[in-house]
Amino acid sequence: MKKASDILVGALETEFKTVKAMMEIYCKQQHGSKTLCQSCAALLTYAETKLDRCPYGESKPTCNKCPIHCYKPEQKQQMKAVMRYAGPRMLLPHPILSIRHLIHERRDVPSKPEAGSSNRARRKAKREDKLN
Ligand SMILES: [Zn+2]
Repeated sequence: MKKASDILVGALETEFKTVKAMMEIYCKQQHGSKTLCQSCAALLTYAETKLDRCPYGESKPTCNKCPIHCYKPEQKQQMKAVMRYAGPRMLLPHPILSIRHLIHERRDVPSKPEAGSSNRARRKAKREDKLN
């Protein structure tokens, strides 16, 4: 399958795929665009950056259970609207992503993450490894 993100790996990439699928449903039906409109595309890029920087890294809980509030108020409102609308409409077009997300949602929030767990920190560490 084509990679959804150039920077995210593993569970974070799967989560990004889920967000992307939700945004596509939302934008198509609410904004009438075939591909993501400019504002939805910007929000998706914002989400990718946040996933990259999430201190939990791949052990990240689902966003609505997360004790860290990393979104700015405006983006948070936008994303909430997307989730509320697209959440119940995900099951038919994306059964596997939906079920995976529902199972994930029931998991407990992991304890405080260790420093350097974020996708970004690991990406940088990997890059430095290559240089040495
Ligand atoms: Zn849109």
